[in-house]
Amino acid sequence: MNKQTGCLVCAKDLVYTKLTEKNCYYCGKVSKTEVYCKDGHYICDNCHKADSLEFLETYIRNTKQTDPIIMLEEVMNHPSFKMHGPEHHYLVPAIVLTAMKNLGIEIVDNYWQLVLARCSDFPGGTCGYWGACAGSLSAGVAVSILKECTPLKKDFYGELHQVTSSSLAKIAQIGGPRCCKRNIMLSIYDLIYSLEKIFDIKIKSSVYTCSYMKYNKECLYKDCPYFPKKEAI
Ligand SMILES: [Zn+2]
Ligand SMILES: [Zn+2]
Repeated sequence: MNKQTGCLVCAKDLVYTKLTEKNCYYCGKVSKTEVYCKDGHYICDNCHKADSLEFLETYIRNTKQTDPIIMLEEVMNHPSFKMHGPEHHYLVPAIVLTAMKNLGIEIVDNYWQLVLARCSDFPGGTCGYWGACAGSLSAGVAVSILKECTPLKKDFYGELHQVTSSSLAKIAQIGGPRCCKRNIMLSIYDLIYSLEKIFDIKIKSSVYTCSYMKYNKECLYKDCPYFPKKEAI
């Protein structure tokens, strides 16, 4: 989401300098550039203008990151991600499966194609219209892909529903109105919790503090678990 004028990765100021070769932070491609940030992050033109799913695919193919929260922040900082919208549904399985792959856990090679196919079936607004936020349902997509579950499988069918119901319960506790950032965070943290509890898969994640409240008309402010402890608004 384009909420800052500086670097898309770290928000620091950009430096305009002599033409130099840099690797794009997102896709790794080398190009000549005269602009990058104070910490050296350079974003190529293709990544800069990519739409959300094209960008997400590039990001997960190249990142070596294993902390899903750092990954989420890096992806949601991209201008193609809006404050709210169905592009958020893909984030839960795409990011958690990539973190697991980077941790050396075996994940099917075509997981991104599966995420793309299954998450495109979720319309926007399922939170308020179905009583099931697609962020939670997409936590189920992650576990289904991980365990190669199908509607006919006995193994993992129950666990899959445990994962989605636990995630939905977290979203129920907080209540509405919807915030796609909040629900994705709740879904990711709950998925990390379920993966450890049910499958003994441990994923280290940092603590998320929201910086989107200024862009969300319906923000719950202090009633949101990710609201900063001391926020100067
Ligand atoms: Zn930077
Ligand atoms: Zn790039």
